[in-house]
This record gives sequence, C-alpha cells and structure tokens, in this order.
Amino acid sequence: MTDTDFMELAIAEAQAAEAAGEVPVGAIVVSPGGEIIGRGNNQVLRTSDPTAHAETVALRAAGLALGNYRLLGCTLFCTLEPCAMCAGAILHARVARLVYAARDPKAGACGSVLSVMNHPALNHRVEVTEGVLAEECSAILTSFFRRRRGKDSDPASEL
Ligand SMILES: [Zn+2]
Repeated sequence: MTDTDFMELAIAEAQAAEAAGEVPVGAIVVSPGGEIIGRGNNQVLRTSDPTAHAETVALRAAGLALGNYRLLGCTLFCTLEPCAMCAGAILHARVARLVYAARDPKAGACGSVLSVMNHPALNHRVEVTEGVLAEECSAILTSFFRRRRGKDSDPASEL
C-alpha cells in the first residue's frame, strides 16, 4: 500500500464523520509492518468530547491494539494538518511519521499556525509528509462548510 492508498482510507473515515454530521476529518495509524492498527474520525459532537479529533481517536485505537501507548515506528495518516493537541499526542506516542493531506490555516500545528511538530525545543522528531491527496481532502472540507454556511456562524471552531 502506498501513502495514497492509506490516505484514501483516511478519507473514508472523514466521509464517515461527515455522514454523522461532524466536520469531515479522518485518520489512520499504520504499524511498521504496514498493518492498519487504528482508525479514527472526528466525533467531538457525538461524544461531547473536545479531544475526540480523528487523530486522537486513531491513536487511542492503535495504542489499545498494540497494548502500548508508544507507537514506535508507526505512521499516522490524516486528511488535515493536525492541531496543537493532536500534534502533542503524536509526539507523546512517538509516532515515527506523519502524512497529512491539506493544510489547516486556522489551527494547523505543523507549521501553518503553530510549529508544535518538530519544534526545536522538543526531542522527538517526526518525519512529515504533506500534500498527499490535498486537493481531494480540501474539497471535502470546503463543500462541507459551504453546505453548512448559514447554520453555524463559525463552523471552523469545531475543528
Ligand atoms: Zn486535533
């Protein structure tokens, strides 16, 4: 499976979030051996949980699958640039590689707004690849917010 293949699975998670009325963001955690060990989609509304972003949901699932909160050698695929909370969780989990699709100019913590990921003062380094299926993932978010416009004054605040 290529990065694009795994990102397609993350997109399927994003679509599942959207079908449930959530902001469409999805994530997948892949083991060093290439096995999918965690899937997550944004579920903050359904769970009344401000931490239930796609990435944290996928990281929790992967931790349970491995029986270890350290996800050594694992790769996280996400349809959107992680926020500060998720970037922190990725660092705590010692994820080896992050692949994300679209940048998040409002909350991205991998360089767009903040640089939590690979901050020079932190000791864990993550190999970051951005832009995989970025146009597709951006379009999913854009169309979601376009449909929602008028219902919510600030839908981006849900991310
Ligand atoms: Zn997040």
